[in-house]
Amino acid sequence: MLHLTYMTVSDRLLLLVFSSLISALGLVSTYPNSALAQAAKCPTPALERFVRHKVGRGETLQSIAALYNLAPDTIITMNPSLKNGRVTTGSNILIPPYNGIVVEVARGQTWRELAQKYKVRADALFELNGCKPPSQIAFIPASNQSPNRVSSSASSTPGVNTPAVQITGYPLASVAQVGFPYGWQLNPKNGEVFFHSGIDLLAAIGTPVNAIAPGTVVFAGDRGTYGNLVIINHGGGLQSRYAQLESIKVSLGQQVKQGEVLGTIGQTGQPTISQPHLHFEIRSNSSLGWVAQDPKQYMK
Ligand SMILES: [Zn+2]
Repeated sequence: MLHLTYMTVSDRLLLLVFSSLISALGLVSTYPNSALAQAAKCPTPALERFVRHKVGRGETLQSIAALYNLAPDTIITMNPSLKNGRVTTGSNILIPPYNGIVVEVARGQTWRELAQKYKVRADALFELNGCKPPSQIAFIPASNQSPNRVSSSASSTPGVNTPAVQITGYPLASVAQVGFPYGWQLNPKNGEVFFHSGIDLLAAIGTPVNAIAPGTVVFAGDRGTYGNLVIINHGGGLQSRYAQLESIKVSLGQQVKQGEVLGTIGQTGQPTISQPHLHFEIRSNSSLGWVAQDPKQYMK
């Protein structure tokens, strides 16, 4: 947990906001049915897209920043206890969806005024903060990043402008039945609409899980709702994620070949469906972070 004693008044205010962000707890966000149409028009507000990252063995501020495609300074800003640049294994840190800061908004202040003050576009602020007038707190993206400049703001973020390399492969030795598809789905248990950021491939517990393409392991460990998770960066702005694993056979920083065994099928974390499966994701790098893609087009 975060250490409140290190925090200033405004940090506590932020924490208050963060702790109410139920939708930010990992790979599954839930929305009432009526919010679906709205969600199609306006992206989920940045303040609701913070996630908690539990620091794993061997991870550094730099490796975590790379994992989320963020500047280390952004992570320090959101976590004042990391001022010395060191992270502690087992501690939780707040990860924002983009580089930027969270600020208090003065009564009556408009997006235009905030945009001028922080030298960012007013329309970007409006969109990143839920497409409504400012409330008490706002997320201000780093001035070189805004939703409208996804393809032209790469100078400070390696890889952003590189066209995605075309990778194809399959994360299991044989083709598996899809237990739950990617995208907006209706939760059969409670009827709520939520976004499923990957595809669930049914397979027996203990089945080996393979890298779909060569790359570098940037995460290997337990991560909340994902359970045991392996993340591979493939270069060219593409990443694959293998979740709900029973065991992990690779370690942070390891280079893997296509087909190399990463771990085995399990039921760790909070799987969407009860049958044993691999939760498999593809994410592409943009100035807005690692964005989930439909894995289908990468699986052969
Ligand atoms: Zn899943």
